[in-house]
Amino acid sequence: MQIDTELYSGKAKSVFTTADPDKLILRFRDDTSAFDGEKIEKLARKGAVNNKVNAHVMRQLENAGIPTHFERQLTDNETLVKRLAMIPVECVVRNITAGSICRRLGIAEGIELNPPTFEFFLKNDALHDPMVNEYHIRSFGWATDGEINEMKRLAFKVNDVLKKLFIDAGLLLVDYKLEFGRYRGKVVLGDEFTPDGCRLWDAATRKKLDKDRFRQGLGGVVEAYEEVAERLGVNLG
Ligand code: C5P
Repeated sequence: MQIDTELYSGKAKSVFTTADPDKLILRFRDDTSAFDGEKIEKLARKGAVNNKVNAHVMRQLENAGIPTHFERQLTDNETLVKRLAMIPVECVVRNITAGSICRRLGIAEGIELNPPTFEFFLKNDALHDPMVNEYHIRSFGWATDGEINEMKRLAFKVNDVLKKLFIDAGLLLVDYKLEFGRYRGKVVLGDEFTPDGCRLWDAATRKKLDKDRFRQGLGGVVEAYEEVAERLGVNLG
């Protein structure tokens, strides 16, 4: 598939149009950012690891009946996807407390949440992605009632599939962020699923194997991502 023009460049991925108006190419870069782009570094090999982990996870989700934008991995760093009209909210599911929920509610890290929680955030770096609720989403027209319900249903279905996928690899799925879009009238999972957008802990030691290593300056960021890939059986070539 021939790359056309760059449509958009995000903090860790660039998006290109193709000759097919319904398809885009995602390029996973080595750039790594945290704190709404305040901390940025290039981490060698990260783009390729994330591209391959994302392809593996998206295939598993498709196999489980979850509609995703994933078409096929093209190169080490590039993947072909369907062109969605993105819904401007982030959906966060949490199985164990960590990150912003601990700061916001004054709760210790590592508490199991049963049932898991679900949160919506507005995608807006300048405003630091504020939390929003379903009334905001409806009143501002970001999504319809039907789309809100479908995002929640799919986000929890993703949880069922991925909790198992990761625990079979000795990993706890602590939390994750999903983004959805519209494609031919349907709500479809877009963006990526990689250690940049979720938290994964070693099930035995609770060692962090995700972007918290970068946020918290723990080191060994890409090595941790590669460990996740290897445990999932992803071929890094
Ligand atoms: O920061 P917070 O605890 O709310 O993040 C919850 C989950 O969503 C984490 O796995 C984090 O990596 C992910 N996230 C993300 N992009 C954001 C905000 C959160 O991938 N803009």
